[in-house]
Amino acid sequence: MLADGMKFEELSIAWIRSALPTLAEGFTSLPPTDSPSIDDSAMLAVLQETATRLRENYPYFHPLYAGQMLKPPHPIARAAYALATWINPNNHALDGGRASSEMEIEAVQGLATMFTWATHLGHLTSGGTFANLEALWIAGQLHPGKTILASEQAHYTHRRISSVLQLPFDSVATDPQGRLDLTVLESRIQKGDVGTVVVTLGTTALGAVDPLPEILALRDRYGFRIHADAAYGGYFTLATNLDAETADSFAALTAVDSVVVDPHKHGLQPYGCGCVLFRDPSVGRFYKHDSPYTYFTSDQLHLGEITLECSRAGASAVALWATQRALPLIRGGEFSGMLQSCRLAALELYRRLHASAMFIAPIQPELDIVVWAIRGSTPEESSAKARALFDAAARRNLHLALVHLPQSFFPANTWLTSAKVAPGPAQVLCLRSVLMKSEHLAWIDAIWERIEAAGQEVLTAVNTIT
Ligand SMILES: *Cc1c(COP(=O)(O)O)cnc(C)c1O
Repeated sequence: MLADGMKFEELSIAWIRSALPTLAEGFTSLPPTDSPSIDDSAMLAVLQETATRLRENYPYFHPLYAGQMLKPPHPIARAAYALATWINPNNHALDGGRASSEMEIEAVQGLATMFTWATHLGHLTSGGTFANLEALWIAGQLHPGKTILASEQAHYTHRRISSVLQLPFDSVATDPQGRLDLTVLESRIQKGDVGTVVVTLGTTALGAVDPLPEILALRDRYGFRIHADAAYGGYFTLATNLDAETADSFAALTAVDSVVVDPHKHGLQPYGCGCVLFRDPSVGRFYKHDSPYTYFTSDQLHLGEITLECSRAGASAVALWATQRALPLIRGGEFSGMLQSCRLAALELYRRLHASAMFIAPIQPELDIVVWAIRGSTPEESSAKARALFDAAARRNLHLALVHLPQSFFPANTWLTSAKVAPGPAQVLCLRSVLMKSEHLAWIDAIWERIEAAGQEVLTAVNTIT
């Protein structure tokens, strides 16, 4: 059962009711149209059925959903998105989305300013995957046939995107914190075929941040391109409570060649909102196609000329614009406070896991993702217990996620039986919590209570069997 009194936010419905007439006022010169003949009760019945079907989801909106990277949109984003659908603009071209294209340009400018970029060319995309595809496509245009390099913890789509673009791809090892290993990276670069290094600021599994300042220094020496995949982590640029090393990597984003950030991850947006930024606006030349309206000065863009996708939701741009108006992207502001509280929640959960005899939390969170294993005599036993804990927590309404970590991320003495005796799998199944709702901090006791109780249940069950 959900906590008493838990229900959906309804304020945004009232906001839409008051804003819709304002929108309509812009079109009073038009002759009235007949109201559409819609069978009200039939539509209502369908919507009721829809609501019933939607109940078959995990409760992503609730703080006890502490699993995958899912975050509810801000009410202002929901309202602005819905309002825009009455117009349904298409940001492919100014013809399709005049106001919403301007709002996109302003919202994207806001993101470039967040990374302290003086120049940029950028736009919204359907998500991080497509944004990364565009960044690697440009990388391939500039370094044809050269290898794309990313860490083993980089998002799985980079390998696939490279294959779509027919560019060679290679991955390099990470350190036990999940960050790209600089020694391995440098020796791989010395082979001479690397055109672009993908640096992840906030890996999807662990929230690990690759050491960007050191990678920039390698770029100075070897001359490759740097693409920063900050789809999940990018907004932490604004957070004021990061460790010094992590903060240095975010500050260094100012010097990369391209960056991807997903407003639909940490930016409080409904799905369908990624963003790619290029620091050199002249890469717009690669997008050239035979549309008659081409101009590539950075202040006079026709968005359809600098995107690979054709139709794009104007509503996404409107929602992002409204959210940035309500919650400006400034360090120390309300929005950055939300990110800071997510990190505090992650540190607090980590502290409790670390202090508990039941669990092994090998990595202190850099952002707001916590990963932990359950103690066991072998990695196999630990993995089986992780699966059981995942279910036992769900029975208590706490929804976690599972992730495989390489055994090398754990200290050598983690398992009672040493890996020498039982070769065992290379990976250990772990629990993972992305604490990306600002309410998570206030819910840490409730979350911890359920993790402990589920852990006890799993250990008791194992003891009864053996
Ligand atoms: C989520 C994520 C992606 C993929 O983005 P989508 O919006 O899911 O397409 C790429 N890279 C990283 C680091 C991510 O966290």
